[in-house]
Amino acid sequence: MSLLVVGSVAFDAIETPFGKTDKIVGGAASYISLAASYFTKSTNLVAVVGEDFPQAFIDHLNQHGVDTTGLQVKKGEKSFFWSGKYHTDMNSRDTLVTELNVLADFDPIVPEAYQNCEFLMLGNLTPKVQQTVIERLQKRPKLVVMDTMNFWMEVALDDLKETLKKVDVLTINDEEARQLSGEYSLVKAAAKIQEMGPKYLIIKKGENGALLFHGKEVFFAPALPLEDVFDPTGAGDTFAGGFIGYLAKTGDISFENMKNAIIFGSAMASFCVEKFGTERIINLSQAELDARIQAFRNLVRFDIPATL
Ligand code: AMP
Repeated sequence: MSLLVVGSVAFDAIETPFGKTDKIVGGAASYISLAASYFTKSTNLVAVVGEDFPQAFIDHLNQHGVDTTGLQVKKGEKSFFWSGKYHTDMNSRDTLVTELNVLADFDPIVPEAYQNCEFLMLGNLTPKVQQTVIERLQKRPKLVVMDTMNFWMEVALDDLKETLKKVDVLTINDEEARQLSGEYSLVKAAAKIQEMGPKYLIIKKGENGALLFHGKEVFFAPALPLEDVFDPTGAGDTFAGGFIGYLAKTGDISFENMKNAIIFGSAMASFCVEKFGTERIINLSQAELDARIQAFRNLVRFDIPATL
C-alpha cells in the first residue's frame, strides 16, 4: 500500500563522544523514507531542499524505490541545516544550530499522483505544515502517523494541539511526552495525550526501547543491546520509517500488528545508530535484516508458565 512521507531533508553536523562530522545528509524524511523502503516499494516523498543539496543522495533514494517527484529543489537557496552535540551517555543532546533556510517558507505541494495514499508519515516539521498536508489530501489516509519534538511545544503549542487532533499515531520521546502532558508518569502522560487526538501513542526511550499505548493496552519493545553506538541521530525517524513501512507492507493497522511494526522499527533503528548519519541504513542486505530480526526474537522470547 502506498506511503507518503513528509519531513525535513537536510544537512546535519553531528558531534558524539566518538567523533565529529562536517555537513552530512540528514533530515527526518531522509531517514524515514530510507527505512520504509526496505518494506514497501511505494514510498513517495514531499520535502524541500536548496540548490546545495547533493543529487547523489536523491539518486540513492530513487534507487531505493522512493519517488522524489514531490521533492522541491529551490534554486539559489540553501537546505535546512541542523547541528547537535551528544552528551557522554548519548541519550541526550544539545541543539547547537538550526538554520531553517528553505524550510522557513515551505509550502508542501502534494503531487496529484500522491493523492489516495493509504499511509501518511508526518516527520518532524512545523505543526502548521504537517496540518496543511493532511488538509491537502482529498481522501483521508487509512493511517496518519506524526512525529514531533519539544521545540514545537515551546514555539507552536497551539498549532501542535490542532494538528494532534487529526492524527492516529504520535511518536515522541519520554521527555517530550512529559512536557506535552505535564505528567511525570508515562502511563498518565499517555492517557492525557490520547485525549488530545492520537488514539495510539509511541513513547521512545532511546536505548531503553519503546512503549506503545492504546486505550488501556500497552506493549513494550526493548532496544537491541549493541556493542557500538556511534551516532543516535535519526534513530527515532528510522524507527518511524520501519514502523510505518511495515504497516504499509501488510496493510493491517490492528494493535496486534502494530506490535510487530514496533519490532521492525526498533530493528531498523538499531542499524542507524551504528554509523554516522544515514551511512548504515543506505545499503542493508536482506541477510542483515533477517539476522537483526532474529536477534530481537531471541532477545525477547521466553516461555514461562503463567503461575508457579
Ligand atoms: P532524531 O535524531 O530522530 O530526532 O532526528 C534528527 C533529524 O531531525 C536530523 O537529521 C535533523 O536534520 C532533523 N531535525 C532537527 N531539528 C529539526 C526541525 N526543527 N525541523 C525538522 N527537522 C529537524
